[in-house]
Parts: sequence; C-alpha cells; structure tokens
Amino acid sequence: MAGHIVQSTQITMNEQQIAIFKQCLLEKREQLLAFAKTGDEAAQTVELDQSKVGRLSRMDALQQQAMSMESNRRREIELQKIASALQRIKDGEYGYCVSCGDEIHEKRLHIDPAAPQCVDCAEKTHQ
Ligand SMILES: [Zn+2]
Repeated sequence: MAGHIVQSTQITMNEQQIAIFKQCLLEKREQLLAFAKTGDEAAQTVELDQSKVGRLSRMDALQQQAMSMESNRRREIELQKIASALQRIKDGEYGYCVSCGDEIHEKRLHIDPAAPQCVDCAEKTHQ
C-alpha cells in the first residue's frame, strides 16, 4: 500500500461539491447516450426514405447523414471527456488542470463539469 492518502482538509473542493459535479456528469452522459440512440434511428429512417423519394432528396439525405456523422463525432468526444472526468473523480484528481495541475475554477466546472483544463491551458491549446 504505497498510495498517498488525501486528507479531506487538503482538498479545496469538498466531497459534496464533487458529488454534485459527478451527478451532473452522469446525467450528461445519460443524455448523450439517449441522443445517440435517437440519432441512429433517425439515420436509419433517412435511408429508408431515400429509396422511396428518389434522387432529388438524395442530396438532402447525404447532407443529413454527414451532419449526423459530425454530431456523432462530437458526441464521442464529449463522452470521452466525461469518462475521463469520472476517472479523475475516482482518482481524487478532479478539479485540477491535467496540463498544469492548478485548480480549475469552480465557475468553469459549473459550465462544463467535464473540463479537463484550467482556462489558461484551454486557451493555449486552442491557439
Ligand atoms: Zn492549466
């Protein structure tokens, strides 16, 4: 047993706050998974319609398919983010920037509970 024990006095965010964020993340994940299901059904409907209505709406169907692929991709990324945030909660590292180790501002976590980086590092990454 070599792991260090984090005392509750040492962590800035208390367990109750983390529990709230965790609940948020779990709900978000549920929503995304539910969307994924309806999205798949919609994509299938498009394909069926396509054979009925012919060439003109084929473009529409393809466009819709591309759009749904794009939103699938974004959903995957979001689910990944949520999964790693939940992992950080497990590891007791939640609320700290994965790049610099600084605390992530609580306000930021309220907006995006899955945010892995502090504002500074997120901005650097996007530049
Ligand atoms: Zn940072």
